[in-house]
Amino acid sequence: MSTVGILGGGQLARMLALSGAPLGLRFLVMDTEADACAGQFAPLLVGDYRDQAALAEFAERVDVATFDFENVPAESAEWLAARVPVFPNPRALGVAQDRLVEKNLFRSLGIPVGDYAAVATCSELEAEVARIGGACILKTRRLGYDGKGQFRIKSADDIGAAWQALGAQAASVGLIVEAFIPFQRELSVVAVRGRAGEFRCWPLTENWHVDGVLSASLAPASVDAGLAAQAFDHAQRLAESLDYVGVFALELFCHDGTLLANEMAPRVHNSGHWTIEGAETSQFENHLRAVLSLPLGSTTMLGHACMLNWVGQMPERSAVLAEPSGHWHDYGKLPRSGRKVGHATLRADTTHELAAALERVGRELDRKPQIAPVASRLLA
Ligand code: AMP
Repeated sequence: MSTVGILGGGQLARMLALSGAPLGLRFLVMDTEADACAGQFAPLLVGDYRDQAALAEFAERVDVATFDFENVPAESAEWLAARVPVFPNPRALGVAQDRLVEKNLFRSLGIPVGDYAAVATCSELEAEVARIGGACILKTRRLGYDGKGQFRIKSADDIGAAWQALGAQAASVGLIVEAFIPFQRELSVVAVRGRAGEFRCWPLTENWHVDGVLSASLAPASVDAGLAAQAFDHAQRLAESLDYVGVFALELFCHDGTLLANEMAPRVHNSGHWTIEGAETSQFENHLRAVLSLPLGSTTMLGHACMLNWVGQMPERSAVLAEPSGHWHDYGKLPRSGRKVGHATLRADTTHELAAALERVGRELDRKPQIAPVASRLLA
């Protein structure tokens, strides 16, 4: 029986462990926090990712290692990879940890990106904002997530405030300024690549964010087949260039019919949570199959699915459970502002049935603003 080691013990590790149980897998989760929520379902090793003694114990106890958290230090991933198979490989992890390296790779692969530049000083920021023209976003190159470590620059007047907010981090994590893309849609490709190179994508997903945090996902995204094929092709090129093994997400902006890559996530992804009930094989199961060299499962989806994220605190669950195809996921976390604490997935055979289910849940839970953009897309 294989033991899968997971670095990071949040909800992604928890859902990996839950999906691996029917495959007869065991898990060991490592996290810096003793109350990491995956620890409710799998043995938890508490330790710092830079602590070699803890990493050595982890390596000793697992057959293969993977991540629920992409910001594990690259050196730690490499140290582990010298002792136990690690998927995705440390190079892929390293690329995804640095927005500049990642965007350079996209560009070199012919995957279109918006304009961007690294900046080390406030005067470089001024020069790049002037060169890019129009609104921009200043971001930390490393360690940013869920909209954290970002500052929107609507005009040159905001440059001082942006530097005030993030300039101090220029030396430690680096900064990148990007053109603000006035996109019509945000899409993501969730894909899996096996150890022998087999590649599969789930249907394209459309996503809505609030304050930089994912609020809702809808699959399949209603886009024309040509655009979806382009998105899948970008993802496959990226995966092959990194010799990627496992599940990853490629986040894309759709602007005037063109796809621009924003970032990749080298792990199972929030925009793929709907696959648990909405696809023949979930992203969690296929990630485990990939890292263990098992045949990949079908990524075919069953009807239409919408995932709603619960951020801060869990709502009351009965409205979702009352739906014929409503599914509830409580991550077992303490409530905290801005924290992802759970999600729900609604599934239906038709877009109209899904819109109706969403309307009922939105009304019952007093969450109309969260469901409104999804419902209007479904009914368009
Ligand atoms: P990120 O951490 O890069 O995924 O950014 C979080 C969210 O901020 C994205 O999902 C977008 O909604 C928004 N965002 C980030 N970068 C840009 C950009 N260059 N143009 C427009 N919106 C952006």
